[in-house]
Amino acid sequence: MGYHEAWQRSIDDREGFWREQAARIHWQTPFEQVLDYSSPPFARWFVGGRTNLCFNAVDRHLPARADAPALIYVSTETGQERTWTFGELHREVVTMAAILQAQGVGHGDRVLLYMPMIPEAVFAMLACARIGAIHSVVFGGFASHSLASRIEDATPKVIVSADAGSRAGKVVPYKGLLDEGIRLSAHKPEKVLMVDRGLAPFDAVAGRDVDVAALRDAHRNATVDCQWLESNEVSYVLYTSGTTGKPKGVQRDVGGYAVALAASMENIFRGEPGRTYFCTSDIGWVVGHSYIVYGPLIHGMATILYEGTPVRPDAGILWQLVERYRVSVMFSAPTAIRVLKKQDPSWLTRYDTSSLETLFLAGEPLDEPTATWIGDGLGVPVIDNYWQTESGWPILTLANGIAPMVTKPGSPGVPMYGYDVQIVDEVTGEPLGANQKGVLAIAPPLPPGCMQTVWRDDRRFIDTYFSAIPQRMLYSTFDWGIRDDDGYYFILGRTDDVINVAGHRLGTREIEEALLSHAGIAECAVVGVADSLKGQVAVGFAVPRDAAVVTGSDAALALEGELMRTVERQLGAVARPARVHLVTTLPKTRSGKVLRRSIQAACEGRDTGDLTTIEDPTALDQIRAALR
Ligand code: ATP
Ligand code: MG
Repeated sequence: MGYHEAWQRSIDDREGFWREQAARIHWQTPFEQVLDYSSPPFARWFVGGRTNLCFNAVDRHLPARADAPALIYVSTETGQERTWTFGELHREVVTMAAILQAQGVGHGDRVLLYMPMIPEAVFAMLACARIGAIHSVVFGGFASHSLASRIEDATPKVIVSADAGSRAGKVVPYKGLLDEGIRLSAHKPEKVLMVDRGLAPFDAVAGRDVDVAALRDAHRNATVDCQWLESNEVSYVLYTSGTTGKPKGVQRDVGGYAVALAASMENIFRGEPGRTYFCTSDIGWVVGHSYIVYGPLIHGMATILYEGTPVRPDAGILWQLVERYRVSVMFSAPTAIRVLKKQDPSWLTRYDTSSLETLFLAGEPLDEPTATWIGDGLGVPVIDNYWQTESGWPILTLANGIAPMVTKPGSPGVPMYGYDVQIVDEVTGEPLGANQKGVLAIAPPLPPGCMQTVWRDDRRFIDTYFSAIPQRMLYSTFDWGIRDDDGYYFILGRTDDVINVAGHRLGTREIEEALLSHAGIAECAVVGVADSLKGQVAVGFAVPRDAAVVTGSDAALALEGELMRTVERQLGAVARPARVHLVTTLPKTRSGKVLRRSIQAACEGRDTGDLTTIEDPTALDQIRAALR
């Protein structure tokens, strides 16, 4: 059966298709109904079935692989490196579950994790899953006010945190930010569990703060059984990256998520139990939830938890880890590859990466030059995958585990089974044919694993996601897309990233692709800026690959001119940016997404909006300086 037939079946016979996929996980109590779609757009999967994410990720593997590696921790920040077998992981998770219970955490309580990439963060996530508590991981190092708004929204009984994170060799103390975040929040947690890494001294708040290490000894031999949860109970709440505005609290179920991840591990990632999966994301993002923690472990793979950057101690570190742990599947982001692209390419071939079968990239549009650079450099296939915090697993990619398909440069691929993806007209809501640009939408019901609703706000779920497209109840991705004659999709940027130059509608993404085709550019962002004459003009910001090209120098001016001509040659004079400024860094979210709305606001002298997820606020200063 070809992929297309498999996909068609997943839409025509949803229940039959997902009933089969559901057999991949352990159900303590079988489900009575595959799908309850009696209250659109809310979908309830595997109704009545009882299961547990932690059981599927850990306990289930004990009979066959208690002594096999499960969690491999590598920190190039602190020099720590350690492996936990499934048996050892089980012990740590049960201990952490007992510690949480001792603080009064039970079924349905929220536990907010504000943690760096340390094993205790994984133990705590799995421990919550085990006892039916709802975790909400907030990216470590977020500023106090971002943290405060998430504490207020999730109302956690307990917060688990650490003294500090570390980034590029610099200690980032967390405790002060946490205390301030709690002070700013109207909701207060009863307890704060602190993991003391010995990186940054802190003051414990008497009666509230508890030291995890001290409790660990007391609970080392505890027994904590898995709480069997109905499939549609809540496993976690996770906030979106905040690229386009205020982050949304994505609420996820238990059974649907477990099934979707288990299926994706084989159908999409083609991982093999017993081998090693290396995802370079952070547990604060959805990619980290799905493919550092739950997906690989559910599938019986070892997973690498990496605290560090791709370039320290040198630009070979990722490939060194691939060699050392015989990584077979790797998952990273275009932004990480673009960082490497600024380094000596010989780093790609200094280690034995022959164990690596495929490199998956997601999170942002993957331009062809970057894909080719890394694919050729490593000698492995590179597979793009498009999805969102909301979906929990890929929407568009290739399901080579079902039936192999060729990669098309610039395209993340085809709709994954279960996703009824359509390109629709933004004004009429009508479905569009091949080669017509429109909004990428999904006809509900959304497949298992996707968000159930906005945390405690069903109204916002409908208003935000299902009301954007006129006349029809469709899930809007808020991304532009196009489908070619072979059914491959291409993402053309966010729906708010379209600019209108003298009556011509241009996707900023297309201009960015043209800029990136110039070998001198590592990354770039294009935004539309208000112009009294033309309505809007395109303005570009580009980071040269060669750091020696300093802004304002002759070389820089020459490069800027070349870049403008490159766009003009490829897209025509109307798309030619009014200016291309060279900068050394772009304002990005901590998840590596370019904050185009803030760049645009800076260009227009407006307030830059919600910056709670920005990586480096000074990057915006460079934009402002470039404009002067
Ligand atoms: P917010 O919704 O809060 O504004 P966000 O959309 O950046 O933030 P995420 O859910 O982390 O939050 O990101 C999903 C978005 O990332 C997608 O809607 C899309 O715009 C972009 N994206 C992810 N993967 C790809 C990809 N492979 N190709 C192109 N774009 C991608
Ligand atoms: Mg989004």
